[in-house]
Amino acid sequence: MHEVIQKLKAAGLKITPQRLAVLEAVKSFHGYHPTAEDVYKKVKEKYPAISLSTVYRVLDKLVEIGEIKEIVVSSSERRYDARKDAHYHFVCKNCKKIYDIPKEMVEIVWKKPLEGKKILNQNFVVVGLCENCYTGNEE
Ligand SMILES: [Zn+2]
Ligand SMILES: [Zn+2]
Repeated sequence: MHEVIQKLKAAGLKITPQRLAVLEAVKSFHGYHPTAEDVYKKVKEKYPAISLSTVYRVLDKLVEIGEIKEIVVSSSERRYDARKDAHYHFVCKNCKKIYDIPKEMVEIVWKKPLEGKKILNQNFVVVGLCENCYTGNEE
């Protein structure tokens, strides 16, 4: 935690218990990939005075310092993930649940074509219907 505080300070964020609670909240979702609203609701239980804009600002900084991942589902939907190891995401279009995809399963598809190039950032999201939502009638 101490190291995270140092990094956040270096990134120009003033540290308060409320702000640190944002990181704790993201971590507390275990496998569920929360929206900023989900995180906001969670932090609000303990710190009723926190605003949604503060939550957004802290989430941005946490992404910037690499403490959490941001999953861009669409231009209007972002989700967050405290799991730091490299992996990808499958998003169900219907129930919005996000499933983790192991890194190796995806990389085998594009590793060869990208040989010789340096990857700086990746945002790879697979959209579809999960087992629970897929009926066979969908296109
Ligand atoms: Zn689903
Ligand atoms: Zn994930």
